[in-house]
Amino acid sequence: MKYRSTRGAAPEADFETVLTAGLAPDGGLYAPDAFPSIAAADIAGFAGAPYADVAARVLAHFTGDAFAPERLQEMAREAYGAFDHPEIAPLTQVGEEDWILELFHGPTLAFKDFAMQLLGRLFDDVLARRGRRLTVIAATSGDTGAAAIHALAPCAHAGVVVLHPEGRVTDVQRRMMTSVDAPNVLNIAVEGDFDACQAIVKTLFADRAFAEAVHLSGVNSINWARLAAQTVYYFTAAAALGGDAPINFVVPTGNFGDVYAGFVAKQMGLNVGRLGIATNANSILHNTLQTGDYRPAGVHKTLSPSMDIQVASNFERLLYNAIGRDGAAISERMEKFAKEKVLHIPDEALASIKEDFVSEAVSDEMTLAEIKDHFAETSALIDPHTAVGRVAAKTLRRDGKLNGRTVTLSTAHPAKFPDAVKDATGETPALPAAWSDLNDRPEHMERAPAEAQAIAGLIAKRFG
Ligand SMILES: *Cc1c(COP(=O)(O)O)cnc(C)c1O
Repeated sequence: MKYRSTRGAAPEADFETVLTAGLAPDGGLYAPDAFPSIAAADIAGFAGAPYADVAARVLAHFTGDAFAPERLQEMAREAYGAFDHPEIAPLTQVGEEDWILELFHGPTLAFKDFAMQLLGRLFDDVLARRGRRLTVIAATSGDTGAAAIHALAPCAHAGVVVLHPEGRVTDVQRRMMTSVDAPNVLNIAVEGDFDACQAIVKTLFADRAFAEAVHLSGVNSINWARLAAQTVYYFTAAAALGGDAPINFVVPTGNFGDVYAGFVAKQMGLNVGRLGIATNANSILHNTLQTGDYRPAGVHKTLSPSMDIQVASNFERLLYNAIGRDGAAISERMEKFAKEKVLHIPDEALASIKEDFVSEAVSDEMTLAEIKDHFAETSALIDPHTAVGRVAAKTLRRDGKLNGRTVTLSTAHPAKFPDAVKDATGETPALPAAWSDLNDRPEHMERAPAEAQAIAGLIAKRFG
């Protein structure tokens, strides 16, 4: 399996390079040369198999000869062994043709653990073999940071730096990051929003001298290995439901990584119907599908902070597929976008995107109403991101844009967003036992203005 950059100007790369580099050297995102395919009979055979074994089998299509099959399986078993539900990603039926896929049973209670727990192990394996150290940097809108820290803190060969937008993550989200006290973990609260954090990460990578001096590497959802790991639960969910009819998935969306993984699963042969992009008031992707213009505006603060994002990095990958894997054309468009702040999607590409994707934007008001209604109907609490997904699924069905069996991804545990859940229902969701003393644990973090220079200084001091 070979990978190319979406901007067409980086050398071909193998999986190990894609895993450890994150962003391609030409500023593009790595994408496989061609999507691998899995036969329908093999997919059907995933039903009832242990999650970790399915993960190893799916991942093997992407990893080339980077890992022996037994080693990959061993790492997958360790990664998903840290989850607190035997099914790892259980499905709950919530309507005649509706299910919720629970993706919050990992160590930090959000779907980010699915990719990150595995990545931490893949990283350590590769780095140990190569005798190298890396400093992994991530910008987080709340959940990636905790997942990365909990996956990478035990790694002997990696340090981890997490930038979070100060005051824009919940206390539970922040404490899950800052309560980890380890010399290889550096938390930085940035005086800016998530897009500012993400832009700083890109600037630091572009500074080749700095990036090389501290051995910088990335695990944001631009990292192909994360997307590959996230395709797995689409396979296990569809296999568990069985049948011949296609299955729709509705996905609470921010950086477009999770829903893009569903698109990849579909390209690999999974019988997916439509993919529903569910956004909060940061509705850039919804607007793009409506108008053909990708036009970021200011970030709105909402009740679903992990999706308070305007620049959805992975969208570049979809565009790359939609315009026929033409790296030069993407590079030109992205340069124009950087200047003009708007990216026009050619009609043909938009039409092909709309064959696979539908979208809906959901307000905070509707989010709260859905948490309340869901509790009244099922006595179960859902988090605000999941609620955005459920509102979108219902609206899309009502408007005739989704038909048949539909799975909504539940991306976080309600206890990560206790204020919103309490506002909606009067109930305070309890943290799982492993986190019950979270508020008593001391916090460890630095603060910095939203300037790459200041942040580079902090990183160099710790990891230089
Ligand atoms: C990260 C996150 C999302 C958005 O996922 P993307 O891959 O960025 O689109 C949705 N919900 C929760 C809880 C998240 O942590």
